[in-house]
Amino acid sequence: FPMKLNNPDLLRSQSYLNGKWVDAKNGEMFAVDNPATGAHIAHVANLGAEQAQLAIDAASAAFPAWRARTAKERSIILRKWFDLINANTDDLARIMTIEQGKPFPEAKGEIAYGASFVEWFAEQAKRVMGDTIAAPIATNRMLVLREPIGVCAAITPWNFPTAMITRKVAPALAAGCTIVLKPAEQTPLSALALAVLAEQAGIPAGVLNILTADSEQSIAIGKVLCTSPTVRKLTFTGSTPVGRILMQQSAPSIKKMSLELGGHAPFIVFEDADIDAAIEGAMVSKYRNAGQTCVCTNRFYVHAKVYDSFAEKLAARVSGTLSVGEGFEDKVTTGPLIDDAAVAKVEEHVQDAVAKGAKILCGGSKHARGGRFYQPTVITQVSEDMLCMREETFGPLAPIVKFTDEAEVIRLANNTDYGLASYFYSRDIGRIFRVAEALEYGMVGVNTGLISNEMAPFGGVKQSGLGREGSVYGMDDFMEMKYVCLGGI
Ligand code: ADP
Repeated sequence: FPMKLNNPDLLRSQSYLNGKWVDAKNGEMFAVDNPATGAHIAHVANLGAEQAQLAIDAASAAFPAWRARTAKERSIILRKWFDLINANTDDLARIMTIEQGKPFPEAKGEIAYGASFVEWFAEQAKRVMGDTIAAPIATNRMLVLREPIGVCAAITPWNFPTAMITRKVAPALAAGCTIVLKPAEQTPLSALALAVLAEQAGIPAGVLNILTADSEQSIAIGKVLCTSPTVRKLTFTGSTPVGRILMQQSAPSIKKMSLELGGHAPFIVFEDADIDAAIEGAMVSKYRNAGQTCVCTNRFYVHAKVYDSFAEKLAARVSGTLSVGEGFEDKVTTGPLIDDAAVAKVEEHVQDAVAKGAKILCGGSKHARGGRFYQPTVITQVSEDMLCMREETFGPLAPIVKFTDEAEVIRLANNTDYGLASYFYSRDIGRIFRVAEALEYGMVGVNTGLISNEMAPFGGVKQSGLGREGSVYGMDDFMEMKYVCLGGI
């Protein structure tokens, strides 16, 4: 591993199954890359279907004792995990930057964000409430109990290697569920480091299992997790096509599903907006993680009256303040894209737009450093027929469309199968309510480009997914209601 850590114990190449660190059954390993250089930084155990079944069995065996613990006991253990994550922030962020590419300060931000879900659900564990219901029969009493759903499975992506794990594992464990996690093949080291700390925090064997695998074995493991009747719930963050496959595979066992899938976030700037504030919002919502988040703005709609000034200011900010490079270099704001396919997709979107008449205000091609670095880009004269207006770009491209009419821009913003995040800027209170209510999205940022935190319900509508993560609602996905009717009282 090309970097010194204060706590080298965090670096693991084995998977974590039933409280033990294990190799793949056939001894196979797969390589983990540094996306900034393409160099191998580690080799990690490549588990498969058979060990996935062992992990399910372990999670199933651990479930009765874990659910029988008091909520307070589970809360104390989660709180300890939170403290350990915080205490190891720098090392965890180092591991993340080197395997994922995001700038080191941003990686530290993600560790804090990821840890916040553990803290939050440690607290929420103690606030699981039931109900009593007025019964229609005088001698009956009716109760609603809330119980953990059972063994859960989680599949997570590479763009938030820590936070997407804690946002699933913490509420599951808080509820009293046990879990089998398959992290993204690009970022297994961050997941394993969390397991080291979970073990240290006292999370019992079998309660949290982490199976690392390459892309091929991930598919095999996914099949086992989806088809197992023991797994009562699957929680997934990733692309819409894969979400669709997992849902299909899970249909025979009627699994409860949480899906956080793709987005195609619109960012609307009305003529009455505070333009400087809109630029700030645009910068964070578009260029964070080099545009590789599911809530990143994908398309800008700017009113004709402020179109030119917004586009010029945004291009000036992008070329003046964003600095592309390796995540550990000084002042770098924009790291590499995750892989060559990601770079090819941004290139395709830009070339397609230019061919259809778009104008490049800044960027527009691969960065001079080569590799997986792409220049932060702003384009204007954008029309709805361009690829970037229909597909999720997942890169540092800001296409700006001109509009004049509120109803028309709402129609355009909603004209997609996605419905995750949306943003708009306006200072008119009537318009703010009107537009916020009209947008068919699970999340709306009004006069802000940054909406995610542990207290907010994160999730999408339409083909952006099912369920909500974080917030007071986030444990619902890991619990079932049980209705108890007492008669003869
Ligand atoms: P991304 O485009 O962000 O890489 P994916 O949806 O391809 O998103 O991957 C997200 C997660 O889903 C990763 O952990 C990956 O290994 C896993 N995955 C991808 N394809 C499958 C599949 N067919 N079955 C199970 N897991 C899968």
